[in-house]
Amino acid sequence: MKHTAIVWFRNDLRLHDNEALTEALLKAEMVVPVFVFDERVFKGKTSFGFSKTSVYRTKFIIESVLDLRAHLRKLGSDLIIRTGKPEEEISRLAAEVQSQWVYCNRERTTEEVSVQDKLEKNLWKIGQELCYVRGKMLYHTADLPFPVSQVPDIFTTFRKEIENIIPLRKPLEAPEVIPFPVYRHDRGEVPTLADLGKETVPYQHIENEKFIGGESHALKQLHYYLYETNHISQYKETRNKMLGWTFSSKFSAWLAIGCLSPKKVMQELLQYEKTVNKNESTYWLYFELLWRDYFRLIGKKYGNRIFQKNGIRNIQNGGRDDMVAFHAWRDGKTGVPLIDANMRQLAQTGFMSNRGRQNVASFLIKDLKVNWLIGAEYFESMLIDYDPCSNYGNWNYIAGIGNDPREDRCFNIPLQSKKYDPNGDFIRYWIPELDAVPGTHIHQPDLMSIEMQAKYGFITGKDYPSAIINTAKWI
Ligand SMILES: Cc1cc2nc3c(=O)[nH]c(=O)nc-3n(C[C@H](O)[C@H](O)[C@H](O)COP(=O)(O)OP(=O)(O)OC[C@H]3O[C@@H](n4cnc5c(N)ncnc54)[C@H](O)[C@@H]3O)c2cc1C
Repeated sequence: MKHTAIVWFRNDLRLHDNEALTEALLKAEMVVPVFVFDERVFKGKTSFGFSKTSVYRTKFIIESVLDLRAHLRKLGSDLIIRTGKPEEEISRLAAEVQSQWVYCNRERTTEEVSVQDKLEKNLWKIGQELCYVRGKMLYHTADLPFPVSQVPDIFTTFRKEIENIIPLRKPLEAPEVIPFPVYRHDRGEVPTLADLGKETVPYQHIENEKFIGGESHALKQLHYYLYETNHISQYKETRNKMLGWTFSSKFSAWLAIGCLSPKKVMQELLQYEKTVNKNESTYWLYFELLWRDYFRLIGKKYGNRIFQKNGIRNIQNGGRDDMVAFHAWRDGKTGVPLIDANMRQLAQTGFMSNRGRQNVASFLIKDLKVNWLIGAEYFESMLIDYDPCSNYGNWNYIAGIGNDPREDRCFNIPLQSKKYDPNGDFIRYWIPELDAVPGTHIHQPDLMSIEMQAKYGFITGKDYPSAIINTAKWI
């Protein structure tokens, strides 16, 4: 009898640098790839009642699964598709194909761990084994100079112990053939947005057009950002901008669902440095990927604490469950243009720049005094690139209960607005009500006289909301 392994694709929807797939191919003669649309993830709600997965991320995942299936079919294999609970669907599949092992990337955050634990127990009942591999990070934990429990609590300390010291591993090659057994059951269809309870995306901004899920598009974006446009060479200068497609890499969505491996990004980046250009900008992309690894390690080190109100440092904080303030923030109606523009972008595309995320999170926590968990859960729902460790790690950081060594950091929003959107182009794009307002006044329209507001075609409180807080403190 030929040995068979199932590969359970989770947040690793790619063929390149896929450790689960590589290990399964080494161990078994036949390999059965599977993806399960977990109904709890696509149809469930977060604790504050948001949809667990927005239409943007759902669409991106559907596209990624379709792309993966097409790649597997080209190699003589296929992707079995199921909708339901992975722990049940995969153990049923394991019984059907009489496999010996199920391979998957090990997840470290509560909900994902609970699913993999249940699957492991179900597999034990039928004499099969769940084999865990890694694959999310740039560095393997075994290569680090400290155990996970000793990961430094300050990013700079972590970085200095890694960069230029720990060698980078090369990504694994994509397989050329994947032997697939005779399978007489239904292979399953990829569900539509409607099947998963979502409407179609009603907007047509650049982000809606360009964020297309799948390894093919991930590799295209990598090539585009490095070789096709050389935008990488200006990354350090442009990365804090907010308007448009080219100011930062936009790799996050593909990295989050694993259409792109961070080791693959690094391999291409090093090649680019060798053959085209090496400068501070190319270094800075590596620097940001280190942040990604860092938050994953912090998630491992502190476990559930990243999801708790007092955060990893267990600091009492007085954020209130003020849903009125939260709704104004969520709907882009705070009367503070930088915040409203960013929140409208998130609602209409599922994406927001890093600069935007820092400002809106700071505003919700420090100015509106709202419980940061509500904001983090809303981000979890909406972000096309949602990743539990990056999201909750960054929220912990901004709430002052995480890894920020500076006490009580608080953004001055109009100052940030003037610095990073000096002419107000980003604000005007997302807030057409302020279309005629010149750059000199757009950052704090509530400071304009009624006459001046009327001259520029709006009245606060009527056409655009009055500021939700007293903004005099920012003058
Ligand atoms: C409150 C808040 C929530 C966030 N939630 C997420 C999230 O759920 N998923 C996510 O991928 N990123 C998150 N980030 C980090 C960051 O904003 C995004 O990774 C980045 O904006 C994505 O755009 P990009 O790919 O063009 O980034 P680039 O600037 O091109 O950076 C390259 C890559 O580096 C990584 N990276 C960059 N900055 C960070 C960071 N601060 N933390 C972790 N990784 C980083 C990402 O993988 C990114 O794709 C969050 C940041 C904040 C402040």
